[in-house]
Amino acid sequence: MKQITILGSTGSIGVQSLDVAERNGYGITALTAQKNVKTMEAQIRKFRPHYAAMADEAAAADLKLRVADTGTTVLAGQAGVCACAEAQTDTVIDAIVGLAGLKPALCAVNAGHDLALANKEALVAGGRLVLDAVHDNGVRLLPVDSEHSAIFQCLQGMPPNKALKKIILTASGGPFFGKTREALADVTAADALKHPTWDMGAKITIDSATMFNKGLELIEAHFLFGVAPQDIEILVHRESIIHSMVEYTDHSVIAQLGVSDMRIPIQYALTYPARAASPVKELDLAAIGKLTFYKPDTETFDCLNICKEAIARGGLFPAAVNSANEEANRLFREGKIGFLQIGTCIRAAFGVTPDKKDFTLDDIFAVDKAARAAARAAAVRPQ
Ligand code: NDP
Repeated sequence: MKQITILGSTGSIGVQSLDVAERNGYGITALTAQKNVKTMEAQIRKFRPHYAAMADEAAAADLKLRVADTGTTVLAGQAGVCACAEAQTDTVIDAIVGLAGLKPALCAVNAGHDLALANKEALVAGGRLVLDAVHDNGVRLLPVDSEHSAIFQCLQGMPPNKALKKIILTASGGPFFGKTREALADVTAADALKHPTWDMGAKITIDSATMFNKGLELIEAHFLFGVAPQDIEILVHRESIIHSMVEYTDHSVIAQLGVSDMRIPIQYALTYPARAASPVKELDLAAIGKLTFYKPDTETFDCLNICKEAIARGGLFPAAVNSANEEANRLFREGKIGFLQIGTCIRAAFGVTPDKKDFTLDDIFAVDKAARAAARAAAVRPQ
């Protein structure tokens, strides 16, 4: 029986990963979360993992009491999350949100486990550090993000002769597609949380509304597939049916299609290279009727430009804008800044980022602190 560990099991991807695990009969080695003790207790009672960890120490103490009658060992803090990532298993799914997922991802890889990565922020910030660890440990890095899973699927069987011309990364356009900057001045977090095609965690839903998410995905695709950022085209596709495409040098374009259900890419990362039956609805193209495509509006959605600038500058810049965005995203959700201020706060990170190509994990955490502080400072400045 295949054994898996799910980091971030109480979240949107985590819960769907447990559904996939249950349907495929996988055993659960470990589950982790931050502080959602109630959901974690229910998951422990149902899936009986060997280990569970809560990043929040008080939550871990609470969980320990709640599940004392089960055989699950409860660990605490980030060290506990990393210990879960290292515990003997077949594949670790990293479904933690934000930079908090980077260290556990490296722990999983350095312990010799295949990594199914939903946590795009880890790869955006960690870049070469993650790729080198994957290479040095001889493990597999399997994409879970739907677009990257689509690209990965389109690349199966690619001839080894550099025949890939470009990646076409599709984007739903989010809830504010077609709006001008003026129209976005007063939108609230509640408006931004109404995603047209995907039901996801709060942070990524806001990132989809600003299109920062697509910028993160461009950087993620660059690292995952070794394609230059200028050879990754972003295409708005409102229906979210084509999850991404690749174009070869003969101008043949290969696409992966399916209904918007993350259980398809999660399962493919776990069954790869095989496929398994799934409960996901069949795609009915006749019922959908037509698929539409648009160029992204980079004037309104400046966050796309920010990410392109960050990856062009390389080094610590992707990590810096990612951290500044985590802060700006939170401030917007808390109603402390307006939608259009998000980009301003993120841009402030450029001014505090050391320009160096080689960096360590400590450099990433130092720039994380500086970029978050810069984003907060920009938030209180009058526009
Ligand atoms: P959620 O917010 O729904 O879940 C996040 C999970 O991470 C929860 O289990 C949460 O625990 C845990 N967590 C939060 N902070 C920490 C921390 N500091 N340390 C350890 N664990 C923590 O997020 P999503 O499931 O939506 O997204 C997870 C990742 O997957 C993100 O990187 C996102 O970009 C990516 N992704 C998500 C998609 C989706 O459809 N949701 C699609 C593609 C990619 P707790 O519940 O206790 O707070």
